[in-house]
Amino acid sequence: MKAFSYQRADTPAHAAAAAAAHPEAKFIAGGTNLLDLMKLRIEQPAHLVDINRLPLDRIEALPDGGLRIGAMVRNSDLAADPRVRERYPVLSRALLAGASPQLRNKASTGGNLLQRTRCYYFYDTTQPCNKREPGSGCSALQGFNRIHAVLGQSEHCIAVHPSDMAVAMRALDARIETLSPQGAQRVIPIADFHRLPGATPQQDTNLKPGELITAVTLPPAPPGVQLYRKVRDRASYAFALVSVAAIVDSAGGRLRSVRLAFGGLAHKPWRVEGAEAALAGAQAGDAAFKAAADAVLRGARGHGHNDFKIPLARRTLQAVLADASPRS
Ligand code: SF4
Repeated sequence: MKAFSYQRADTPAHAAAAAAAHPEAKFIAGGTNLLDLMKLRIEQPAHLVDINRLPLDRIEALPDGGLRIGAMVRNSDLAADPRVRERYPVLSRALLAGASPQLRNKASTGGNLLQRTRCYYFYDTTQPCNKREPGSGCSALQGFNRIHAVLGQSEHCIAVHPSDMAVAMRALDARIETLSPQGAQRVIPIADFHRLPGATPQQDTNLKPGELITAVTLPPAPPGVQLYRKVRDRASYAFALVSVAAIVDSAGGRLRSVRLAFGGLAHKPWRVEGAEAALAGAQAGDAAFKAAADAVLRGARGHGHNDFKIPLARRTLQAVLADASPRS
């Protein structure tokens, strides 16, 4: 590990000032991903700003019926919060599908959004990887790409985003609150937070250098049944091959509104609002579910080892929609 300096911040303003004073700084919260990356010298911050003591560990009710989740709320606490379990079960289930209890006890809400891909070649520093070393090439394109993207990928990178939590938050239209090193606050819709790889796969998000996540807000819970289904190689402590967050409101066998977000398929939580709109008003059943899968997977392309993800995503989506739509 490369040597670094360290300081502890007590307030968001203090953390922002530390980032302003050290352009090469990184914030560290639970460290469940960053420490591994530092040991492998994939991340080499010259300065670490420890944000574990920031007073951002509360979940607050908002006047509109939503919730504000402090960036330092641990994944375990968020999953167990009674308001989350009752009103946002898709989020609670997604969190509990991620990592292990020990990791969830450490991992923070803000850090979960920022975790980096688990592409094997990204972590293997003997192999070319455009995300780790821009311009070096993408080993996964011609390599073993079983866990890689089938949607939204580029010739420069076919990695997927690993978070389960972010997929549920995408279905819930979460908004991310930040503080810049200069002290400016802004709110980023989660749809605009993560990036597709394009020609700059080294940039996972649209955060600016030194920008600190302070909270995530959830709008009031949408009506309907909420489900999160994760398909993976083993029953726990594994990343998604395909995951689906679904919020389905129906009555009398007819779909009133549907929200669908996907993990394991792309460089960011994937959502196709056009497919959701086409389902609204349709009779729940195989024909509508098949049409939705067609719309979501239009343009999907495998790279050999991951070709199976396309039919897997189709079957998973259709099964989730069937489970979420009470029979008339
Ligand atoms: Fe690197 Fe992305 Fe290619 Fe993986 S898929 S080797 S992260 S460039």
